[in-house]
Amino acid sequence: MRIGIVTLGCSKNSVDSEVLASNLLQSGFEVKHEYDKSDVVIINTCGFIADAKEQSIDTILTYGFLRKKRKIKKLIVVGCLSERYMKDLEIEIPEVDAWFGVLQWDEVVKYLNKSFSQYELINRELSTPEHYAFLKISEGCDRICSFCAIPMIRGKHISREMDSLIDEAKLLAEKGVKELIIIAQDITTYGIDIYKKQMLAPLLESLVKIDGIEWIRLHYAYPSTFPDDVLELMAKEEKICKYIDIPFQHINEDILHKMKRGHKRDSIEDFVERTRKLIPNIAIRSTFIVGFPGETDDDFRELLDFIKSAKLDRVGAFTYSEEEGTAAAQLENSVSNEEKIERLEEFMAVQQEISLEKNQSFVGQKLKVIIDDFEDGVYIARTEFDSPEVDNIVLVSSEKPLNIGEFYTVSITSADYFELEAEVV
Ligand code: SF4
Repeated sequence: MRIGIVTLGCSKNSVDSEVLASNLLQSGFEVKHEYDKSDVVIINTCGFIADAKEQSIDTILTYGFLRKKRKIKKLIVVGCLSERYMKDLEIEIPEVDAWFGVLQWDEVVKYLNKSFSQYELINRELSTPEHYAFLKISEGCDRICSFCAIPMIRGKHISREMDSLIDEAKLLAEKGVKELIIIAQDITTYGIDIYKKQMLAPLLESLVKIDGIEWIRLHYAYPSTFPDDVLELMAKEEKICKYIDIPFQHINEDILHKMKRGHKRDSIEDFVERTRKLIPNIAIRSTFIVGFPGETDDDFRELLDFIKSAKLDRVGAFTYSEEEGTAAAQLENSVSNEEKIERLEEFMAVQQEISLEKNQSFVGQKLKVIIDDFEDGVYIARTEFDSPEVDNIVLVSSEKPLNIGEFYTVSITSADYFELEAEVV
């Protein structure tokens, strides 16, 4: 990342800029004492007399214009003028990303290191096929689910700035990505830390405008705080897949309470009902834990009954695993490993039949699919109701060659537990 330092005012300021440049060089940045199409511009201002102040403001406004047009990634102002009038200037010129006073070089370097890691994130090498990519919108989690070590490992929830996510999504689209898979520990809390409110819907509204992105898929939501505006947007916006991954973990009230999930059976049932009413064809994916400490046979039967009646579209299940340092690790009445495995097998057998029934209901229908791969003479594709690696696949046969990463309309000819077969229309 190239940084251009624009120095105004006296020779003392020039020396200050040289010191700043050497600090930045030591931190691995490329630095020039001019703009020269840099990614970041730092203006070292002068506030000595009226003329100097005016020149500083004019210069800030000039580069502010470039920042607004996204020709530069960050605009930073340092030096005398900034030291004297920072509070007023912050309000007057919002195009500036950060203001620092005189000689605050460590702070400038820290700020840029943080931004630089975002830049790295944006320019990462994809490990997925070229046509889909994950977009991680936040890190960490503020919740206290008793079985989960994530908040201890990943720390508190921190959202990424919306601008940075949009830049990343545009870059991904330019590289050929057509499907964005939005991920976070809990996507429903996106934005609360930096914008003081849930911002998933506004983020999605911006992402759907990006040319080239055709599908946006949502993974890992928390049931009780799922925002209505996201469901409403999903119902009307074609680019947002009719798909939601929302781990419920259990249905028994006592177990949910011990899991410290912060919601009851009602809110899960309410979410399923509300969502299906608004988006009848939505695929709801969820995950569950079996064998949580204290889970009795009756509790497990209650979970099975829920699975049978709710008929969720995609379901994963895990046996409870005790994680060191979590609240659940202190709980008594653990379920034996043998029992946990038996419950898991019974659970998955029930869901398998539901999956078969759901898949067979697609036979004869025409669906839009994306081709992920070609193996043994068959194209491997997915519908909008399926996420890569974890959900169903569609095996497409075609006499004409198809392109990997392209969308096609197919007619479903047969269905199995986790696979559909289809022909190109
Ligand atoms: S299970 Fe999910 S929501 Fe709960 S603490 Fe862990 S990461 Fe957060």
